[in-house]
Amino acid sequence: MKTPFVTPEKLREITGTIPTPFHLYDEAGIVDNALRLKAAFAWNAGFREYFAVKATPTPAILKILGSLGCGLDCSSLTELMMAEKLGITGGDIMFSSNETPDAEFELASQLGAIINLDDITHIEVLRRLVGIPKRVCCRFNPGGAFEIGNHIMDNPGDAKYGMTREQLFEAFRTLRDLGAEEFGIHAFLASNTASNDYYPVLASQLFTLAVELSRSTGCEITFINLSGGVGIPYRPEQQPNDIAEIGEGVHRVYDEILKPAGMDDIAIFTELGRFMLAPYGALITTAIREKHTYKEYVGVDATACDLMRPAMYGAYHHVTVSGKEDAARDHTYDIVGSLCENNDKFAIDRALPKVEIGDTLIIHDTGAHGRSMGYNYNGKLRSGEVLLRRDGTFELIRRAETPDDYFATVIW
Ligand SMILES: *Cc1c(COP(=O)(O)O)cnc(C)c1O
Repeated sequence: MKTPFVTPEKLREITGTIPTPFHLYDEAGIVDNALRLKAAFAWNAGFREYFAVKATPTPAILKILGSLGCGLDCSSLTELMMAEKLGITGGDIMFSSNETPDAEFELASQLGAIINLDDITHIEVLRRLVGIPKRVCCRFNPGGAFEIGNHIMDNPGDAKYGMTREQLFEAFRTLRDLGAEEFGIHAFLASNTASNDYYPVLASQLFTLAVELSRSTGCEITFINLSGGVGIPYRPEQQPNDIAEIGEGVHRVYDEILKPAGMDDIAIFTELGRFMLAPYGALITTAIREKHTYKEYVGVDATACDLMRPAMYGAYHHVTVSGKEDAARDHTYDIVGSLCENNDKFAIDRALPKVEIGDTLIIHDTGAHGRSMGYNYNGKLRSGEVLLRRDGTFELIRRAETPDDYFATVIW
């Protein structure tokens, strides 16, 4: 059972003022979850979450997270510019990118961001462009499969990111010789994990590596970035991860590995996106058409341009018909948008209560990698974003695109 964070009454009030489709965010949920993460890692004095901006690049949301002490993880020029516009600079930014263009290294350096090098060849690029900073981070990719027990969680060996173990040792030495004084290690080895063991297993690998790197190179390692990857339960039958247990699991391996090595002043960083935001956003859309052919279709006013995950990955997003939360799910529908692409389906063969034209549908868990992955295929205009405040008030935090936005880049 998945319950929407917004009641039918409140949603009617919002849709009375702001036309669908839009992404709606729940401030209370965002804040409470961020506080749970902070509490889970309170044992680590230097702990910091750097929110992965690409998941939800929306200033009003970034301000909420900033007020709770989160930094920003940027990975592109405009994400860095967004941080700058918000007055977030220096060590409050992690810059984790790959195949990094010159202009991005330059702005990251100018802002004083902590630069996370994806590849050993980037050392020379960085040196040439802006010089090697005092504090720097390297991204590690151990290759092979990432397993917990016998369970393969992901395949880092197939991923384009990060340096091999040998390269990492060499990179630390080279960076040290070029003047770097403070080092960090970063790795992102599995995505949307549904296990409380992902971070602890990753952490134990990185902690062991940190001890080896420190002994072998003499470099001072001051932080370890566990990056993103903690998942959320998209399906109603899935169990949510327990962040308190995850924090305790990392604490245990920290005490086992780093403490005896005398390295227990290392700060733990995270770069969560999905875990911080996905459940606290929903795509609100209206049923505008119905169709009865070989299947039963409900046509809605949102499209894959507003939420690409189902079209791109076949991802499951739960759907609630607002006001029919407790009604029997005794109909089966494909919930579809109007793109001329047959993958424009938010749900396939989904059991729902009877949907009437005009019903408001809540597509769950769109708070991360939702609007941010939007696009303009078929000339569709991306939806706006609305924030539901803890006190029940709501405000538009990004307007919907207009045809003028769509035509703005055209040279006639
Ligand atoms: C996408 C990304 C994240 C966030 O990942 P989630 O799965 O949303 O937690 C963090 N760090 C980097 C470098 C990323 O590319």
